[in-house]
Amino acid sequence: MYPHPDVLAMACADLVEAKGWRSAVILHEDSAVGAATIAPDSDRLALLPRQLPLPNEDALLRNLLLVLKKSGAVNFIIWCGPECAVRVLDAAQRVGLLAARHSYVVLTLDLHTQDLEPFSHGGANITTFQLYDLNSTEVTETIDAWSTAYSRRLGDEEDASSASEAPPVALLLAYDAARLVAETVQRLNLPAGGVGDCARGSGAFHSDTILNYVRSEEWAGGVSWEADGARRDVRLGLAELERGGALAHVALWAPRTALVWQRPVVYTPPPPHDSMTNRTFTVLIALASPYIMKKKSTDRLSGNDRYEGFCIELIDQLANLLQFNYTFVEQPDGVYGNYNNTTRQWTGMMRRLRDDPDIDFAITDLTITAERERGVDFTTPFMNLGISILFHTPLPPEPELFAFLLPFSNEVWLYLGFAYIGSSLVLYVVGRLCPEEWQNPYPCVEDPPALENQFTLANALWFNLGAVLLQGSEIAPVAYGTRAVASMWWLFALVITSSYTANLATLLAKTTSTELIHNVQELAENEHGITYGAKKGGSTYTFFEQSQNPLYQKMFQEMRQQKMPEKNEDGIQKVMEGNYAFLMESTSIEYTIERNCEVTKVGDLLDSKGYGIAMKKNSQYRNSMNLALLNLQEGGVLREMKHKWWKEMHGGGACNAVEDRESSELRIENFFGLFLVLIVGCALGIALSCCDLAWAAARSQRDPDAPFLTRFWHELRFVFRFEQGEKPVQGPLIESKTTSAHTESPGSLEEEAPDEERLRSLSLQTAGTGAGAAPRWSRRRSSMHNASMRLARHATRRSSRRSSTPNKHA
Ligand code: GLU
Repeated sequence: MYPHPDVLAMACADLVEAKGWRSAVILHEDSAVGAATIAPDSDRLALLPRQLPLPNEDALLRNLLLVLKKSGAVNFIIWCGPECAVRVLDAAQRVGLLAARHSYVVLTLDLHTQDLEPFSHGGANITTFQLYDLNSTEVTETIDAWSTAYSRRLGDEEDASSASEAPPVALLLAYDAARLVAETVQRLNLPAGGVGDCARGSGAFHSDTILNYVRSEEWAGGVSWEADGARRDVRLGLAELERGGALAHVALWAPRTALVWQRPVVYTPPPPHDSMTNRTFTVLIALASPYIMKKKSTDRLSGNDRYEGFCIELIDQLANLLQFNYTFVEQPDGVYGNYNNTTRQWTGMMRRLRDDPDIDFAITDLTITAERERGVDFTTPFMNLGISILFHTPLPPEPELFAFLLPFSNEVWLYLGFAYIGSSLVLYVVGRLCPEEWQNPYPCVEDPPALENQFTLANALWFNLGAVLLQGSEIAPVAYGTRAVASMWWLFALVITSSYTANLATLLAKTTSTELIHNVQELAENEHGITYGAKKGGSTYTFFEQSQNPLYQKMFQEMRQQKMPEKNEDGIQKVMEGNYAFLMESTSIEYTIERNCEVTKVGDLLDSKGYGIAMKKNSQYRNSMNLALLNLQEGGVLREMKHKWWKEMHGGGACNAVEDRESSELRIENFFGLFLVLIVGCALGIALSCCDLAWAAARSQRDPDAPFLTRFWHELRFVFRFEQGEKPVQGPLIESKTTSAHTESPGSLEEEAPDEERLRSLSLQTAGTGAGAAPRWSRRRSSMHNASMRLARHATRRSSRRSSTPNKHA
């Protein structure tokens, strides 16, 4: 009953000819048995036979189909059973071979037994042959009657329902065979008891008679057999898969008549609709961090798994929302593309999206520009940005030597100096004006010969300096006038020192140095030899190329003379090498400066634009994509994704930590100036004291005949005799081993010693009573001590005069 396999091959040959195929791939299970029948003339139809992998080798099957896809195959003949055909169609859908331009002829009579709905949306033309018109009333009635009888006999609901499913052709043929046998038995009037009693073998008794009769007769429905027993004269129906999964009867085929179309078979693409459900799209991508990156993994990745990034995740989100499948295809040269006015051709991804029917969408950091919009359609922007400048981070400034002077400007320092000298002079004068500041230098002497003023010019300067450096001094004003001047100076000093302290810390920690450029104007007019550029052929470069702004035009003239970086990474590298500014899109700059602390963003945005997903002009999917994008935007998904890919993934936030730490630390260089002042001050002190010592040595009566240098040398040597805590007033400072002080001038020493003793006790007495001697004044102990020492010196002078002139009494 089953038609000879040649019948399917002949029908297929006629169909392929009717479709006008010039080439096709025949996917077969065992061996391409019917290939010669399908394509007897290889000039008219080039058949490429490919054996299908085993049923459990899905990956191999997909690879085979991918290879065929790459080779540009669009017409396929699947010659295998219905389950196998569905497996092939499923794999074809996964690799993007079920689009509108793809055609399939499935050579099985049982395709109607399978669920074909998933393959009905991609737009591919899927045709098959049917032995029975399953929609004809005769067939449906018979099936119904049979299934009712079958289920009644079984009494089993489950089996009854399975009986009502589309029956395989073998079942229908068996039914036909049974009817033929029944009719033969009837026509030959064979004894009914002997027929069909197969169990006892009696059925075989008439088998040859029945078989010969069946074969030799003409039966209703054109059932006939040829001499070799093969059934070739069959009529097949041609059915096409419709949206929703039904097979629609479109033509009849018979060996003699070939194809007779029952509706004109002019291939019309599926009506435009924006449903993307279950379709598989090919998305063209180009590598650009963090939009599309190659995934780093120790495993061997393949297909879509090889990529990651913001745009990859975006497509995944859209696919989830719109229920479509996708395959990524990488643009090998990474060129996004533009319209070349000279060649009048599109380039890069733009060209491929326009020309390659396999490519449905293109996505990366692809800027929506007016020029590109003329060639392709864009979705609404999924990210907004503008052009800005990427430049080398200014190196932290070399700490200034006199950084401690920074809190005040030179002018302020100058005025402070004037204020200090001026107020010291005022204090000096006021001190002299105030009678109370004229004090008795020897409090123990009731009636002093003269009064002294503590506010000498030197003391006034010292007093004011002590106040401004927050150290105070031993001098205390006692009169109202001096106290008034001192208070005002203290207030002035308080404010000045507080402002100084507050400013100093901030200024010392300041890391921003003088940046060479601050905006695009300064970049264009810079005289530091800074060159600049933008990504070659990118929208930033085109922006400058097409700008009417004189500044940007000038910049473009500069840029066109230079070699532009091919990728953003090359531009960043040049920036790091120095003296180069890279005009780049702000989102990419943000991503870069999060990870690369050597570069920074300079200036504001030059324009405002967005990235979009490109698709073919007038694509029916634009609306669905826009709606889905808006959903993602309003749901905050895009913002979260941006945060993830910019701030978290692949080392985001690396520069913030470094900046914080660096700005809070002060380095030793910040204090070099201060150390210098300390060292110079100490050196000055030593020098001054040496001069003092020299002066003292010159005036010393100790050894009047010795030359100055010897005396100075003696003084100096005494300084370094640290074991000697007391300095003799007279006599040699350095005693020679042979000459003792007593033998040298015994008289004078003997006379001096009691004087010294006396003076010391006098001095102590004075110190003890001094406070009581001047109750009105708040005297300090040291000034008392000074006064008593002066008194002691006075007494010494008197006693020495007495000893030199013994006849006179002081
Ligand atoms: N987004 C740009 C484009 O679509 C590439 C980068 C740039 O030009 O700065 O061409």
